[in-house]
Amino acid sequence: MTSVRPPNLSETRFLRALSELASVVGASNVYSAPDRLLDYADPFAPQPMAEHFAASAAVLPGSTDDIREVLKIARAYRLPLWPVSTGRNFAYGGAAPRLRGSVVLDLKRMNRIVEVNETLAYALVEPGVTYFDLYAHLRRHRMKLWVDPAAAGWGSVLGNALERGFGYTAYGDHAASQCGMEVMLASGELVRTGMGAIEIGRAWQLYKAGFGPSYDAMFMQSNFGIVTKLGLWLMPEPPAYLMAHVKLPREHDLEAAVDTLRPLRLSEIIRNHAVIEGAIRHAAGVSARADWYEGAGPLPESVVDEIVSRLGIGRWNVHLALYGEPDIVDARWRAAERAFARVPGAQIEARRYAAGEVPNGGGEGNMAGIPAMSAFRMLDWRGGAGAHVDFSPICPFTGGDAMRQYSVAKARLAEYGFDYYGGFTAGERYLHHIVATIFDRDDPKQTEAAADLQRVLMSDARSEGYGVYRTHLATMDFAASQYDFNDGALLRMSETIKDAVDPDGILAPGKSGIWPRAWRAKRGDV
Ligand code: ADP
Repeated sequence: MTSVRPPNLSETRFLRALSELASVVGASNVYSAPDRLLDYADPFAPQPMAEHFAASAAVLPGSTDDIREVLKIARAYRLPLWPVSTGRNFAYGGAAPRLRGSVVLDLKRMNRIVEVNETLAYALVEPGVTYFDLYAHLRRHRMKLWVDPAAAGWGSVLGNALERGFGYTAYGDHAASQCGMEVMLASGELVRTGMGAIEIGRAWQLYKAGFGPSYDAMFMQSNFGIVTKLGLWLMPEPPAYLMAHVKLPREHDLEAAVDTLRPLRLSEIIRNHAVIEGAIRHAAGVSARADWYEGAGPLPESVVDEIVSRLGIGRWNVHLALYGEPDIVDARWRAAERAFARVPGAQIEARRYAAGEVPNGGGEGNMAGIPAMSAFRMLDWRGGAGAHVDFSPICPFTGGDAMRQYSVAKARLAEYGFDYYGGFTAGERYLHHIVATIFDRDDPKQTEAAADLQRVLMSDARSEGYGVYRTHLATMDFAASQYDFNDGALLRMSETIKDAVDPDGILAPGKSGIWPRAWRAKRGDV
């Protein structure tokens, strides 16, 4: 007996499919027992919601040949597969599938670092390679290259780039640093993109386009193929780097922080994904909410003021890094410091490090290319079974837009009983605004409010012309429906492509709101 199965298969057919899968990858690489499937449940889903995204099984191929055979079985049974690399897409669903009963295609056994080229500064990796793995590999081989870790270092380098995740060095835009892919289509056909289509291709990880149309971005946040290798540019280790922190005292200083950072970023004086974080996010890294306040509802302003003064932080805290030759770093810093010093009350600290030196206690490792897991400290903020779900709108890089997004979100969060735990990360012309709703999963009221709140935050943003760049499984259809120019022409095009490249609808039905013909009736079903 299996407890969950794909909606279109009888128990008998499902068991037969599982036994065929086992004959390809080995019985020890097919999981269907409920306790083995716990790893594939969304770790942060409010309990009732977790049911909607339950997997029926997981299959772990060891090679592209295995994947081809798995696909053959999936096509024969119309078995929905949900590919993940390491499945640590926490706050957006973890390894859990959008369509209940899908089989997770877990690629973590495919974890080779195929190549690292130090001269041309790139790596080619398989899905199971984590930031920790790649970092360790570079150190072990004494290569003068940095990785750009995502907030949590245990995730997949390939999976994060496909989700358009970001980090904090000058290579923080992971989708932009990606170059060349190997992809298996639902038919079992293996495609190499760009220069990789030349059999002995020498420039696969160097020139993105190749000849003719380019497709790499088409496989990001989509369900058009299974990515089996991905090229990524790595940052040459800088001879020196500088970390700076600017504390700004007042709530409305967010506007000045953004308007000061933008010209520095656009002129490339600052090239990293600098961060502007709110006081509560900073405080959650070093304390728990109960240390400050035990009452109901959001933290009162007086408590936030107390946090700011007792921890000696800003109401907004800018963290940035500069990389390069020491004299160039110093010259750049003089320009940046001058700009921030114009903001009344700004407190500025900076320290220059030599190459290879670990920054202050390692806590700032992400900006120095050192993966870490400190991001998870936030889970203890609220106490209980800490979890979070993220509202992640893209914000135009102006102080006015940032203040508008912040004020609207903060008021809504308060209405639902949550603190504004958020911050902005600097792209070139946009900011990633990440607002985490932190809740205790054992508290049904909190979990329900957290889930309802996400749609409200997204609707508020949409009515001002903003959209999210990424969202939880539960809100993928909702997010896709907000990108509705010309009556949803974009989604219609995505689904036309989906039906052409995956006519049996076996790959990740519902991912990013894209449903294959066979499963379209499931849209909106959560
Ligand atoms: P991470 O562990 O880095 O957070 P995941 O493995 O959870 O990354 O991948 C994030 C999402 O990206 C998955 O939910 C899936 O939709 C997609 N994805 C991941 N790996 C692949 C892949 N190899 N091919 C196609 N899609 C993938």
